[in-house]
Amino acid sequence: MILFMNDNIVSYILDLLQTKGADIQYGNEDVTQLEHALQCADLAEKNNLPNPTIAAALLHDIGHLLYQDEDPIHKGKDGYHENLGADYLSQYFTEEVTTPIRAHVDSKRYLSSVEKGYYESLSEASKLSLKVQGGPFTKEEAENFIKKPFMKHAVEMRRFDDMAKIQNKKTPDVNHFRPYLDEARQSYLTK
Ligand code: FE
Repeated sequence: MILFMNDNIVSYILDLLQTKGADIQYGNEDVTQLEHALQCADLAEKNNLPNPTIAAALLHDIGHLLYQDEDPIHKGKDGYHENLGADYLSQYFTEEVTTPIRAHVDSKRYLSSVEKGYYESLSEASKLSLKVQGGPFTKEEAENFIKKPFMKHAVEMRRFDDMAKIQNKKTPDVNHFRPYLDEARQSYLTK
């Protein structure tokens, strides 16, 4: 794991998205990790989610880009990419950014449990990964989940995650979102 002493972490992450992210498909969907990240952040911005959640939307699947070897999800195993990504980013960003990332899989388990029609709306690939990720929450698990800090934003972000799979959709590029990351980085450094 690379630790940055100076502060080019934002550039490093944006670069990772633009290089490795442009090479890797988003699971079994029709978009790359980069396109998925940009579409998710674009939707979060257009729907006025808070700035740290927009940063989270851009970075929520960064875990998929951090595996040294093959992503375990390709072998039908859960690689807990949400924890890998959130643990990595928590060295540089506050919980306002990392919590929705850590919770983006659980948010799917939550919505599948409490919202009628949500599960049916998921893509086949996403239904399949839900199974590997533990399936829908029980009623009690769902109640406990939504009580925790930042979870309402995490769940809103999840909806955009599910929508961010459109082939050839036009979005702003990564640099458009740099100010959100810079701002988030600043609040970590001054907390
Ligand atoms: Fe995603």
